[in-house]
Amino acid sequence: MTGRTALRLRLRLPAPWSYINPMTEDERWMESALREAEQAKKRKEVPVGAVIVHGGKIIGRGYNQIELLQDPTAHAEMIAITAAAAGLGSRRFDGCTLYVTLEPCAMCAGAIVLARIPRLVFGASDPKAGACGTLFNIVQDARLNHRVELAGGISGDQCGALLSEFFASMRQSGNGGKD
Ligand SMILES: [Zn+2]
Repeated sequence: MTGRTALRLRLRLPAPWSYINPMTEDERWMESALREAEQAKKRKEVPVGAVIVHGGKIIGRGYNQIELLQDPTAHAEMIAITAAAAGLGSRRFDGCTLYVTLEPCAMCAGAIVLARIPRLVFGASDPKAGACGTLFNIVQDARLNHRVELAGGISGDQCGALLSEFFASMRQSGNGGKD
């Protein structure tokens, strides 16, 4: 390491005030995914939101739109992947991270592998459909030709609370909970 590189690395250390409120970068992007989930909630959709980040910028976002589109595949991740690919003008996702408030299902995990997204960060685990460590781990299956770096449970309580509050309110309003 040259002297200049060492200096640059020192300068990149977090500023002292960040130790007082140590929100990690992943948690900050998860806030954006949570804002997408809020959009779903407003439209009485199961509140799941996703963003795809590249070079410090959101290049695709999405929230669950199954009811609106009457499409069982309209999951937040699918919409974010399609939006990001359209914006990039490419199906290549080098250097991208996908943030999603709920552990992806088998379909979305499959799409993440097909898109070769290098890194996935999710919030709450999904005991009913989670395919990134809970029921299956499709994104890290050595038999597939792409494996994803994975971080789960990021702002997991917040992401999970949004979902459980939603289902509780749906049950209260007699809608049975769209599950
Ligand atoms: Zn899904």
